[in-house]
Amino acid sequence: MAILKSLNDWSEAPASGGGAKLADFCFLCHKPLSFPAVYWVGGSPDNPTSDGAEVWLHPQCAKTLSARLLRDAKELEDGKRAADEWLRCWKQQNECEA
Ligand SMILES: [Zn+2]
Repeated sequence: MAILKSLNDWSEAPASGGGAKLADFCFLCHKPLSFPAVYWVGGSPDNPTSDGAEVWLHPQCAKTLSARLLRDAKELEDGKRAADEWLRCWKQQNECEA
């Protein structure tokens, strides 16, 4: 993962390999994307089968997506009711539209 504030930050994004570029739209909200942005690339450089899929997000959307992923994982472990309650509490604490 990398948090990129500008194109000059590319050297701090080890997975970019210098060939990636800012996506046009956020993965979560699909609104136009600009810096600062959160960048993730799938897989590992050590894994030859890695497809290197990229995810670009607004910083707030990264927080929201993280909460939604945690909620879904919690549903598998603790059931839907507990997961929904966890997300409701998270939204209250983060004043977010997750
Ligand atoms: Zn977004």
